[in-house]
Amino acid sequence: MDPKTTHPDTIAAQALGWIDEQTRAVTPPIHVSSTYLRDPDNQYRSGRIYARADNPAFDQAEAVINALEGGQQALLFASGMAAATAVFQALAPGDHVLAPKVMYWSLRNWLMSFATQWGLQVELIDMSDPAVVQAAVRPGQTKLVWIETPANPLWTVTDIAATARIAHAAGALLAVDSTVATPLLTQPLLLGADVVMHAATKYLNGHSDLIAGVLVVREGAADSDHWQRVRKVRAQLGGTLGSFESWLLLRGMRTLHLRVRAACASAQRIAEHFHGHARVLEVMYPGLPHCQGHEVAKLQMTGGFGGMLSIRVKAGEAAAIAVAANTRLWKRATSLGGTESLIEHRASVEGAGTPAPTDLLRLSVGIEDATDLIQDLEQALAAA
Ligand SMILES: *Cc1c(COP(=O)(O)O)cnc(C)c1O
Repeated sequence: MDPKTTHPDTIAAQALGWIDEQTRAVTPPIHVSSTYLRDPDNQYRSGRIYARADNPAFDQAEAVINALEGGQQALLFASGMAAATAVFQALAPGDHVLAPKVMYWSLRNWLMSFATQWGLQVELIDMSDPAVVQAAVRPGQTKLVWIETPANPLWTVTDIAATARIAHAAGALLAVDSTVATPLLTQPLLLGADVVMHAATKYLNGHSDLIAGVLVVREGAADSDHWQRVRKVRAQLGGTLGSFESWLLLRGMRTLHLRVRAACASAQRIAEHFHGHARVLEVMYPGLPHCQGHEVAKLQMTGGFGGMLSIRVKAGEAAAIAVAANTRLWKRATSLGGTESLIEHRASVEGAGTPAPTDLLRLSVGIEDATDLIQDLEQALAAA
């Protein structure tokens, strides 16, 4: 199957059409070996030595994600955090990096503690405004601009193409956390990004039953110093995914297109239903015309605006927590991108310094019937 001429739905459904040459099996075996045989002449012609660095269990999942993103090479990691932190660990002390004020909370925490202690100069800015990015980049000193779009938990949208131009003019790389958009809605590498990251824990796997992460590098950049150092971070720090998890991820991705499409359609309906609702102060979703970034999202997201939205409860924090307590179908849990819908009082998770208003509930829309989900939220709001 030629990924350049094949529809993403077909790539996902058939996992690139892979067939096991030896057995003719249509799904791959699970390779569990931790080590690989050396040739009698002391060479390693198989290209594999030891499974911390590389594992045939990664090959197909990495190839599918790489094809969906239109990249040159993908690398699986043991978690989204292991993938994201590898991008920063491949930099050098003293390098200046720009990251968004609104972003995935654990990564922001790591950046402001460990990354800073290791000598990275981390500056958090408003990434939704290219003029702010332009004013903040330091040509020659800024080595990386990190963005997330749409960004947790306000679903702020960042213009990938505009930010790539600014980063590149200053000599910096652009990396995009595209977990929420998925490769089906946005392909950041084709918009100018250098590296794209996913918490594969979320939509790519899609079943809330494993932790995994992935990075993909743009065409022509796999030999770059930065990417070679990223490879070393995985091999040497050892944030490698397990064989069974790699196999599960590959299985989960076969339905990625169906799950993402269902979540987008339901999220759009839910957002429109609760916009202007008597008990709701605000609905935050890039698919609503009045929301920040809708125009940019229309250009860089195709086929939907994602399955993530937030609602602010008019009666305040205690009522928001009560709404989450009252839901029957929506599960009160963190995370996102699974088949089951989740609801979460985000400020409780993020704590001091969070950009999340205290009346905000984060919703991850699953693939249940949308009317059931709307009715459940209606009754939960009414009873709060
Ligand atoms: C979950 C998540 C991460 C971290 O991924 P883990 O697999 O939990 O380590 C990073 N970014 C975003 C946007 C996420 O939702």
